[in-house]
Amino acid sequence: MIPLGASHPLELAKTKMPSICCDSLVLGGGLAGAAAASALAKRGADVLLCEACPELAHKASGNAYGLIMPYITDRPSNFERAYSAGFTFTRELLTGDLAKSSLFHPSGGIQLPSTQRLERLVATQNPLLSPCTVHRVSAEEASQLSGIEVSSKAFYASEAGFVSPRDLVHAMVKHSVKVKTSSRAVSLQRTAGLWRTEISTGEVVESQSVVLCAAHESTSLDCAQLLPVEAVRGQTLLLSPTAHSQQLKTLLCFDGYITPESSGLHLAGALYRHQDHRTEALSEDSTEILERLRRWTPSLFPAGTAPQAARACFRTSTFDRLPYVGALPDFSSMRSEAQSYQSGTDLLARVQMRPLPGMYVSLGHGSRGLNSCPMSGEIVARLISNEPLGALSDVAQILSPERLALRILSAAVA
Ligand SMILES: Cc1cc2nc3c(=O)[nH]c(=O)nc-3n(C[C@H](O)[C@H](O)[C@H](O)COP(=O)(O)OP(=O)(O)OC[C@H]3O[C@@H](n4cnc5c(N)ncnc54)[C@H](O)[C@@H]3O)c2cc1C
Repeated sequence: MIPLGASHPLELAKTKMPSICCDSLVLGGGLAGAAAASALAKRGADVLLCEACPELAHKASGNAYGLIMPYITDRPSNFERAYSAGFTFTRELLTGDLAKSSLFHPSGGIQLPSTQRLERLVATQNPLLSPCTVHRVSAEEASQLSGIEVSSKAFYASEAGFVSPRDLVHAMVKHSVKVKTSSRAVSLQRTAGLWRTEISTGEVVESQSVVLCAAHESTSLDCAQLLPVEAVRGQTLLLSPTAHSQQLKTLLCFDGYITPESSGLHLAGALYRHQDHRTEALSEDSTEILERLRRWTPSLFPAGTAPQAARACFRTSTFDRLPYVGALPDFSSMRSEAQSYQSGTDLLARVQMRPLPGMYVSLGHGSRGLNSCPMSGEIVARLISNEPLGALSDVAQILSPERLALRILSAAVA
């Protein structure tokens, strides 16, 4: 390509591009981005949040309601530790700092034994590891608690509830966060100790740190292209209540879920469609959600019920179903180094972990973003502010993107 001269109009336009300066730039205006921006702003940082869409919470975080349910298990695992900590963190945020916004519907939740794992768990007496009070309940107790007829043993989580993710996003960025919508980050470069992020408006944002919270779309940016993520399609429905469904007092979770009526509607979801990139809501998916619901509670909605509205969106899944949260290593240069070795043994000992200075991520929150995003925002803010991680240090280690190193390096030499 022939280089353009410095006086060429395109080159002049580049040098004249207006610059915006801030301490931290957060990319992505969903739950993850709003949580990180809010946690940084609380520490007095000058934070700019850029969202590609014309409004915040337009993608996965745009459902009418989302459930905050604990992960129910009797086995310790990284998944259990991370989501237990996240559940507690989100509950404290909603009933503490954000209590005045009255966002949280503390309905409690019934979990039906819809998988083999849950069937086994409901049948044993093993102590549960849930972060809040979860009881095994008989069918009669489940019916009494939920207000509708339940025909199997179940679990009851008294501290579960639901919230509008969109309202939560807006509540989190309400104070001290500057927001720019219709502003997609298109490229990032690090020069002279600062990140220069070009956004789709033609402006360039200069910041000391960048927090990448653009879910699966993050991988369109060079620095995150090696992160293994999958966009998994799901769908939610809004249903007008029936005389019977109005009796439902708690969340009801099965191989789907439904909320109690709120503002004249129930929300039901959600399906996991892999390798399906269709963005529009599908009538066959609405039918499937309602059929699953009828299998557990046949009389809640009559056959042939049509939803008031349906919405499709994509969760971002990771290889181990845990989000990537924390400082982002420079995987590209680590991979190049790995490729220069003859053998793939001891790669982790030979290739040094190199961070991309000032680059952080909070993405891959899967189907439990209401549990994980607020806590992840706090972890990122503590890392950027050089604060001790305290009680979150264990979880921060579990969620660190450094756990990807072996995968990425091994693939490079395979
Ligand atoms: C059908 C369905 C039902 C769900 N139900 C629940 C539930 O009940 N409970 C629960 O806890 N979780 C639920 N989830 C999961 C939850 O919605 C997600 O985990 C959460 O919303 C993820 O938030 P996020 O900010 O990471 O992603 P998103 O909300 O997708 O936000 C990412 C944002 O980044 C923006 N963006 C992309 N590229 C760029 C760029 N280059 N520059 C700037 N901005 C960019 C996007 O426009 C988007 O707004 C559900 C998910 C689905 C799909």
